[in-house]
Amino acid sequence: MDRNFFLKSLLALGIMGTIRPINALSETLKEDGVLMPTLFIGHGSPMNALEKNEFTKSWKKLGEEIPQPKAVLCISAHWLTKGTHVTAMDFPRTIHDFSGFGQELSTMKYPAKGDAKLAKETKALIKSTDVGLNHDWGLDHGTWSVVNQMYPDANIPILQLSIDYHQRPQYHYDLAKELAELRKKGVLIIGSGNLIHNTKMADPSKGFFPDQDGNYPAYSFDWAEEFNEKMKGYFKSGNYQAIVDYKKLGEMATLAHPTPDHYYPLLYTIGVAKKNEDVAIFNDKTFVGSSSMTSVKFG
Ligand code: ZN
Repeated sequence: MDRNFFLKSLLALGIMGTIRPINALSETLKEDGVLMPTLFIGHGSPMNALEKNEFTKSWKKLGEEIPQPKAVLCISAHWLTKGTHVTAMDFPRTIHDFSGFGQELSTMKYPAKGDAKLAKETKALIKSTDVGLNHDWGLDHGTWSVVNQMYPDANIPILQLSIDYHQRPQYHYDLAKELAELRKKGVLIIGSGNLIHNTKMADPSKGFFPDQDGNYPAYSFDWAEEFNEKMKGYFKSGNYQAIVDYKKLGEMATLAHPTPDHYYPLLYTIGVAKKNEDVAIFNDKTFVGSSSMTSVKFG
């Protein structure tokens, strides 16, 4: 591979482009008898906000097929905090928590509104900890890269709930259960991370760019294949506790998630999912060996 191609591959993969952490419905929602599905979405590169490829086509299709939500509550891998916080501003800013992906992405805005009342309602639902109402964050790329494809008109209020990075997996799963009621009120809850996320081991020489139809070359290390298959099995069987206890899988879990930031959003999705719900697995692809876009819809 020539040098330019290699550099472009790294950039597109998000290895060179740095991703840095940066330190509203008008009426209170009523139950309307429709149980919204809940999603875990592998978000991949920030470029997916703009690109038309096999992954983003699925996101667009989901946006068209799922009943129109009254609001979206997203738990993104890119908002890690001490304590749990929910965005409570009327107009969340678009956060460009990355660099090196070009001007179009770095100046892009996703002008969805927030919903201060829903933020307060979310805070009130969670009894296990005192959730902070946040007025500083906004929408990071783990959220807006996905919702820009699902809801390009930005006409649905979007909130984010942070991940308390000082807590263990069980904490996140248990906290999420307290949020489940929001699904009955028309809120679409999205966990946005990646089922396997090991950028250091990624091998772009196995093909990073999609073909002319937008399909990526599948390539998976053995441990990644095994981890991906195990997780899919847990989704289908409803064995959510095994997902919480993923560290018991040993080395493959450590390889899949050297740090847990992109895994924890999944714990919120399974926390609000019920047993025996319809399970739809999509974007089931691992590429460059160690990046899985495998995603799941419950309900
Ligand atoms: Zn990410």
